Amino acid sequence: MNKINIYGAGISGMTVAIYLKKRNPKLDITLYEANDRVGQKILKTGNGKCNLSNTDLDNASNYNNPSFMKEVLKITNSNDLRAFVLDDLGIVLREDDYGRLYPYSEKATSVLTAYLQKLKELEIKVVTSFRGDLDLKGITIIATGSYAQSKYTGYNYLTNLGHKVTDLNPALTTLKVKEDLRPLKGIRFKVKASILKGNKVLFSDEGEVQFREDALSGIVTLDLSRYYEEGCEVSFDLVPEYSKEELKILKAKFNDEDQFLNSLLPKMLALEVKKRGNIISSLKDFRFTILGLNSYNEAQITKGGLDLREIGYDFSSKIKSNLYVIGEVLDIDARCGGFNIGFAIISGITAGKSILRKHNSL
Ligand SMILES: Cc1cc2nc3c(=O)[nH]c(=O)nc-3n(C[C@H](O)[C@H](O)[C@H](O)COP(=O)(O)OP(=O)(O)OC[C@H]3O[C@@H](n4cnc5c(N)ncnc54)[C@H](O)[C@@H]3O)c2cc1C
Repeated sequence: MNKINIYGAGISGMTVAIYLKKRNPKLDITLYEANDRVGQKILKTGNGKCNLSNTDLDNASNYNNPSFMKEVLKITNSNDLRAFVLDDLGIVLREDDYGRLYPYSEKATSVLTAYLQKLKELEIKVVTSFRGDLDLKGITIIATGSYAQSKYTGYNYLTNLGHKVTDLNPALTTLKVKEDLRPLKGIRFKVKASILKGNKVLFSDEGEVQFREDALSGIVTLDLSRYYEEGCEVSFDLVPEYSKEELKILKAKFNDEDQFLNSLLPKMLALEVKKRGNIISSLKDFRFTILGLNSYNEAQITKGGLDLREIGYDFSSKIKSNLYVIGEVLDIDARCGGFNIGFAIISGITAGKSILRKHNSL
């Protein structure tokens, strides 16, 4: 049984294909891709730079299911990822000030080109524009990704095989709010952002918010979207370095409120804070009512996926033998910063290791 069929030629599918074929050239591997070209999502990632990992990748608390990830990371960690990326793909990494890892060229095209070259060099078969059913002879790997900015999915493959898929929702996406954002359009500002349900803070982090005419955007806002529940609000602390008491002292040094606000904020933001009254409170708690999340067309990932109780830490199915499920089609998601591609690569390597170990007669 040396036949391996992989469905989905994105990051995770191409990773496991290359990992396996390089270590066992006798394997008969076929990648089935619904799109007319493989790996197309890579080009959209990291604003065209492909943020493919993070120096904090081994910290399981970055993922929605830390206990599952803790076990996975014992099998494959960031060192394995770096070794695969450099030794198997020939991609040199560069780290930015926030620990995000990019190809040295800072071009997502370098990553796609590296994957394509390896597929060719290792003579891995690729079928594009695939519309068929699963061929379950040999080992089957489902790596079909998610709804996020994708025309095709493979959730039905899983449910047809008796697997459970949890609720699916767009995540790492922009927030639609009740308040009129038009006056703030185009402003980018560093804040401490919190998502709240009543008085309960669901998540909070510092970063840059981008005010769009129709939505709140920016990395910190996308990260909040992973915690969205109906009836949530978002609060921006526009001056996280100052307490309310310090702000009162600072305000006293200015002749009037306008001068004070203009010394801290871009003009249009200062005007909006003033409109809300009680400016010290508004500076520390600039609030918006979230109406909902923008759709999969804007989302970077999907929250939810294959129920993790039905999968081992090596990504083998507990329901169907010789089936592996990897990448974003699983119920694993993480914040912005290279953790989602990082996970796609880690899951591909882990499944590859397991296949080589369990099926050593291959
Ligand atoms: C705009 C954008 C920016 C992003 N930026 C980053 C970033 O900088 N860093 C980061 O870590 N993450 C980023 N992500 C998330 C990241 O791209 C995904 O988490 C990652 O690609 C998931 O890898 P995957 O292999 O599981 O799925 P994918 O890479 O999506 O690959 C799945 C493949 O399966 C194919 N497919 C689907 N259904 C079928 C089917 N039925 N049969 C055959 N083939 C099928 C798809 O066409 C696709 O090619 C970004 C996502 C988007 C949309």
